[in-house]
Amino acid sequence: MGELAYPLEIRAHHLLCLLGFRGLGYSPEFVEKTGKVAKELHLNSTFPITILAECDVICISCPHNKDNKCRKKADSELKVKARDLEVLRRLGLETGTQISAGTIWTRVKERLTPEDIVEICQGCEWLELGYCAEGLEGLETS
Ligand code: SF4
Ligand code: SF4
Repeated sequence: MGELAYPLEIRAHHLLCLLGFRGLGYSPEFVEKTGKVAKELHLNSTFPITILAECDVICISCPHNKDNKCRKKADSELKVKARDLEVLRRLGLETGTQISAGTIWTRVKERLTPEDIVEICQGCEWLELGYCAEGLEGLETS
């Protein structure tokens, strides 16, 4: 799978997915990659990332990614992009922002609440598990 590239491209709503990651996912490759990214971005506060509203380092390992578009369902590409843009709006950031992992976690902690996740993530099959809201509540920043 190789090392993670610098800067790491992360679509905005995946910041929240990473907080709630507990080993569930769409394929073994997807789970391995997501776990690797989550671990790196939590352990290494200086890791540089670029925040996107399009397919990212996690989507690359997802079976629903077809030609760099989310094809999970017919309307998924539009919906996940809208979710990314809403996360960016609530974080006060623009697409393409380059930022360190530690700085983005601090901003997520300051600006988002579990209620934001409920609003932003309507329609996600993982939402009702509550893992992502719990991850946000437990997020420790330096
Ligand atoms: S509810 Fe779904 S889309 Fe939202 S952060 Fe969790 S896994 Fe990601
Ligand atoms: S391709 Fe779609 S379902 Fe897969 S990780 Fe990316 S946004 Fe999520």
